[in-house]
Amino acid sequence: MKQKETLSTTPLKEQHIDLSNLLIEEMGDEHKASSVETPLRADAFDTTDEEKIAAIAPHFKAIMEILGMDLRDDSLKGTPLRVAKMYVKELFQGLNPANMPSMTLFENKFQYNEMLVEKNINFYTNCEHHFVPFFGKAHVAYISSGKVIGLSKLNRLVEYFSKRPQVQERLTMQIGKALQTILQTQDVAVMMDAKHLCVSSRGVKDDSSNTITSFFGGKFQEEKRKMEFLKYIDINE
Ligand SMILES: [Zn+2]
Repeated sequence: MKQKETLSTTPLKEQHIDLSNLLIEEMGDEHKASSVETPLRADAFDTTDEEKIAAIAPHFKAIMEILGMDLRDDSLKGTPLRVAKMYVKELFQGLNPANMPSMTLFENKFQYNEMLVEKNINFYTNCEHHFVPFFGKAHVAYISSGKVIGLSKLNRLVEYFSKRPQVQERLTMQIGKALQTILQTQDVAVMMDAKHLCVSSRGVKDDSSNTITSFFGGKFQEEKRKMEFLKYIDINE
């Protein structure tokens, strides 16, 4: 009760979170890859984006030439540089922790202590085994420990971790663990429902299958909370 009075007389307090700690944690002191961390070399960001683009373009050009394509054709000659830019500036921008979106925490002024669910967040990412897209919906939930973040930040976080070569299991865990750190609570749930082009457009060419992955932390491991979350997102809808 006392806490409530204090909060109601205090203006909405903002707290900016320094995410540089998260990035160090994410990369690990030894920059060693584990199942949750994206495998990155220690020198991953010694070169600038521009240097990376300049270095990738001739390699992509070589791939196209090996495939027998005539790079003198007007339609093709810009492709190597276009792909290099797209890789570095768009599709894989989230490899660099410097591109992590800023997160601002607010006091949970309304004392809302139930779960907050943000469902149907669209995401597009690329499979790290084939470099073709997988995409779908992410559903994210948390129970506030006294802090809340703007709803659009949940979308931004999903987008950030999607902009890496990924596997769906790791993507799901990276979002869940980052949210736990940012929101200072274990009570976080993430579910991702995706279609993989490496399954539908090649290989077994199964067009109808979806892949579902989940992350349940803290109170979400309780059956009751888990069921409530699943009821809200109703992924069969
Ligand atoms: Zn794949």
